Amino acid sequence: MSFVITTPLYYVNDKPHLGSVYTTIICDTISRYKRLVGENVIFITGVDEHGLKIQRTATEKGIEPKTHCDEIAAIFNINWKNWSISFDKFIRTSSKDHEIVVKEFFERVKDSDDIYMGVQKGWYCVGCEEFKDNPENSPTYKCPIHQKNLEWKNEENLFFRLSKYQQEIEKLVNTPSFIEPIERKNEIKNFVSRGLKDFSISRTNVSWGIPVPGYENHTFYVWFDALLGYVSALNSNETDKSLERLNNLGWPADIHLIGKDILRFHAVYWPAMLISAGMRVPQKIIGHGFLTREGQKMGKSLGNVLDPDLLLTKYGNDPVRWYLIKDISLGNDGDFQDKRFVDIINNDLANTIGNLLNRSTSMSRKWFNNKVPAIDKEFNQKSLASLANIATENFINHFEAYKIDLAADEILKLAINTNLYLNDKQPWKLIKEESNITVVKDIIYCVLESTRIIGLLLLPILPELSKKIDSQLGLIYKDEIPWKKQLKWGILQQGSTLPKPIPIINKLEYE
Ligand SMILES: [Zn+2]
Repeated sequence: MSFVITTPLYYVNDKPHLGSVYTTIICDTISRYKRLVGENVIFITGVDEHGLKIQRTATEKGIEPKTHCDEIAAIFNINWKNWSISFDKFIRTSSKDHEIVVKEFFERVKDSDDIYMGVQKGWYCVGCEEFKDNPENSPTYKCPIHQKNLEWKNEENLFFRLSKYQQEIEKLVNTPSFIEPIERKNEIKNFVSRGLKDFSISRTNVSWGIPVPGYENHTFYVWFDALLGYVSALNSNETDKSLERLNNLGWPADIHLIGKDILRFHAVYWPAMLISAGMRVPQKIIGHGFLTREGQKMGKSLGNVLDPDLLLTKYGNDPVRWYLIKDISLGNDGDFQDKRFVDIINNDLANTIGNLLNRSTSMSRKWFNNKVPAIDKEFNQKSLASLANIATENFINHFEAYKIDLAADEILKLAINTNLYLNDKQPWKLIKEESNITVVKDIIYCVLESTRIIGLLLLPILPELSKKIDSQLGLIYKDEIPWKKQLKWGILQQGSTLPKPIPIINKLEYE
């Protein structure tokens, strides 16, 4: 059994923006967690390359669409490596492998009698690659997302009989936990209850697309093609591409993590297409919110677009991950604020977690000859052990429910409690009396052990910081031993040597 998680296949109109980085980081964190608890994870990302918008962008640049796509796809690939994203598959929808899948899928849908020729009339947004429902409500005929004029289309297209699947889709979207969070689920339930309309799956004026077999001049509508990328990613290395074999390769996906703007495609159109082709539907769709900046929508015209590359160069991977994971509740909208970012990183990572590691290891080095103290008896200080156990349990429960902001919060709470414990016990006073040595050893051991667990809990969220904490405690983490086993209290080896101190996280300056 595999655990399959996907980001959207990003549109190659431009290099990754902060929203794509956000989605991908969340998928990365979930993938890392699932691997740690022993799942065979297949983390799929990639790029969606076809369609009118890309064709036009390439024309404006005076290059072939394929050349444009090669460039941007390479940028995405490098970007995810720079962000240490642990993806397993990177699919490009312009690949030959993908085309084979799209064509077989189309034949299956056709065999279900779900394809017919019709006339598509309506107002179209090229930016969204989508017909808009009620443009008459808008006096300007503009796309509410792109603020660009809609284009009137009147052409012969192939249609998919979505209306035939009304009942099945209604049942599906009402299935508990199929769509999360609840607000997203309600939006889709409302949309479906208004009645599903057939939608066109081919275009006759777009040359940059996969040709529809048997229909001259028709290429597949970009969404019909792109959604299938999740499937073709799974069998990209197989010689036999037949859809029949997909169940053995991990289909259906466990999670499609997407932005809320493309929920309809994933929670309605896509499952209906799959049912029509005799394939299983995904287990879960999580629709996350939008990111704003200092309370404002980001946009080129506003000139306030936050470049994720600059964030990465300036602050590094872990601080950005921590902010996006911990400060935004998955599913809700989030706001990126520079001051808040600096404050959170300094408070949580530098002052709380970093400082805890500094204090505990430096006391241990100083008083116990650069070693973890060896404690004589069973530990007397049970209180910290039970706090760590509770934090671990809560962390796992939150992660299993994809409440990863709450999981991150558990780590922080444990770090705060461990600092408080240290302040309360004041070992720096106790050490002055020779007779207190047993107690001090015990306190320091417990604080170091709690710090080790904090580092270990950070592993799926902030892999770099987690490794730094582990190395400062003497490299205790073992890849070959199950992660959950290593979360048990008492694994830190007594009397083991502590390495030379190295600062693990720098404080940020607010400019
Ligand atoms: Zn639009």
